[in-house]
Amino acid sequence: MAFYISARCPECGAPARHPEGVLTFRCPFCASVLRIKDEGAFLKYIIPARVPPADAPLAVKRAMRAGQVDGLSAVRKIITFYKPFWYCKGMLFFAYADERMGASAPLMTDENDPPAQREFTAAIRDTERIANVTAKSWSHTFAANPGLAGPLLTLGIQAEVLTLEPYDSEQYQEALVAPITVDKAAAEETALAAAMNNMNIDRKRYSYSSLNFIGEKYFIIYYPVTAAVCEGDGGHTTVLLDGINNNFIAAIPGKEIIVETGAWEHSTSRFSLIAHRCPNCGHDLDPGGFNIVFYCRFCFSLWLLDGGDYRRLPKKTLKSTVAQGTIYIPFWRFTLELENAASGERYRTVGELAKLVKGGDLYLRGIPRENLIVFHLPALTASNATAALKLATRICGAQKEMPFDDMEEFPHAAFQGASLPLHEARQMLRVVAFSVIGRTDRKTVNFYNSMTVRDISAELVWYPFEEKGTMLIDQFLGFNVSKRGIAANDY
Ligand SMILES: [Zn+2]
Ligand SMILES: [Zn+2]
Repeated sequence: MAFYISARCPECGAPARHPEGVLTFRCPFCASVLRIKDEGAFLKYIIPARVPPADAPLAVKRAMRAGQVDGLSAVRKIITFYKPFWYCKGMLFFAYADERMGASAPLMTDENDPPAQREFTAAIRDTERIANVTAKSWSHTFAANPGLAGPLLTLGIQAEVLTLEPYDSEQYQEALVAPITVDKAAAEETALAAAMNNMNIDRKRYSYSSLNFIGEKYFIIYYPVTAAVCEGDGGHTTVLLDGINNNFIAAIPGKEIIVETGAWEHSTSRFSLIAHRCPNCGHDLDPGGFNIVFYCRFCFSLWLLDGGDYRRLPKKTLKSTVAQGTIYIPFWRFTLELENAASGERYRTVGELAKLVKGGDLYLRGIPRENLIVFHLPALTASNATAALKLATRICGAQKEMPFDDMEEFPHAAFQGASLPLHEARQMLRVVAFSVIGRTDRKTVNFYNSMTVRDISAELVWYPFEEKGTMLIDQFLGFNVSKRGIAANDY
C-alpha cells in the first residue's frame, strides 16, 4: 500500500514517479539517482482536482435524485478548494503484562483495516511467557482542518490509487488551499489515540502497558473538494462534492464556507530533488527507498544521511563464517543501563540483568557476569514488526559477546542499508527490554512502570546472516528469521 508521487526530475525534466516516504530513488527516464531534499519540515502533497467546476450542477441534480439532499432550486456559486489531511504510518508496538484475571490479548481485527495491513499482524505468544508485545504496521489519515468540510473525515483507500504531486505554494498560488489547524504535535496525539482504538486496547485491563509508534512518518495531503452554493426553500445550502470523482459528500447549511474558515493558506512550501552522490568520490550512490545509510561501491565508503548531511560511518561487522550467501543486516548496537526510577536501583551488567530476566540465571549462564548489557536492534522499519521484535528479543536475551570489527569492504550484493534512525531505535529499547525481561510478577510490573532505559553508547553495525531459501540464518546464535519478515517496508 503506497501513495505515489510524481515530481519533475531536475536532470531530465520528466515526471519521476516514486512511492511517498522514500528518500532516494532512480529517475525512470534518465536513470539519475535522486534524493528528496530534507528541509526539516514534513512534506506536503496535493491531489489536483479532476472535475471541472462546470460539472458540479449535474452532481447536485444527481444527489437530489438519489435523495441525498432536497429542496434546492439553483446553483449560485461553485468553488474548488483543497482540504488538508494528515497521513501517518509506522510500526505500532503494544507491550502489556497480562496480570489480571480474565484479561486476554487485544483483538486484532478491524473491519476498516485493509487486509494488507492485517497480514503483518501477530502477537508474540511464547508459551512460557505472559508478558506480551503485539506489533503491527499501521497507517491512518485524518483531517488537518476538521472545521472545514467537516463530514469529509478521512481519505480512505481511494486516495491511495491516485498519484500525488508535491505541493508547491508558488505553483498553487491561485488555488484555495485551506490552512492546517491541527499542528504536528496535535496530529501525533490524534494518531496515538486512533492507534489505541485500532488495536482495540483497553489499557486499564493491564497492570502494565505501553504503546509505542515507531519509525513513524507524517505528511500532509491536500484533497480537492468542490463546493456548490445552492439556493433552496430554506435559504442557502452548500453541497460538497469530491473533487476527484464528483461524488456527493455532504450538504451543509449556509453559503459562507470561505468566511467561516478564515484565510486560505499562503505559507511557502517547496519540494526539491537533488542528485544523490558519494561525497567522497562523486559516483552515484545506490537508491534505497527508506534507507538512511548508503554504501559507495566505488570507494567503499559508508554514509549516514543525517538531517540533509552525509556522515561517514565505520564499516563494523562480525566476520561471516560462510563464504557464499551471506547477507549483512544493519543493527543499532546499544550499551545501556536500566534504572528503576522509583527505587534508584540500576542494572548495568549481565549479572544484574540475569536477576531481572525470567529464567535469567539459566539463559545467561556462561556469559561473563561483569559484561555490560548490550542490546542489538534491527535498524529497519521492517515490513513485519513482530518478526523484527522477536529477532531483537532473542539476540538481546542471549547477551552473547560479539566481536564487531572494522571491515575493508562489504561484498556489495549482500549489503542491506539501514532505515531506522537512532532516535526511533531508542524508543524501541523500552519495548525490547520489556520483552527480554518477560516477567509479570507484581514486583517486576512495578519495575516496568518506573523503568528508564538509558543508552551509554550507540553505533550501527552489520550482522551477517546466511541466506537459505526464504530464511535468514543467524550465524552466531542460530536464530532463523524469514527474509520477508525483515525486508524493508514498502508500505
Ligand atoms: Zn530524469
Ligand atoms: Zn564513493
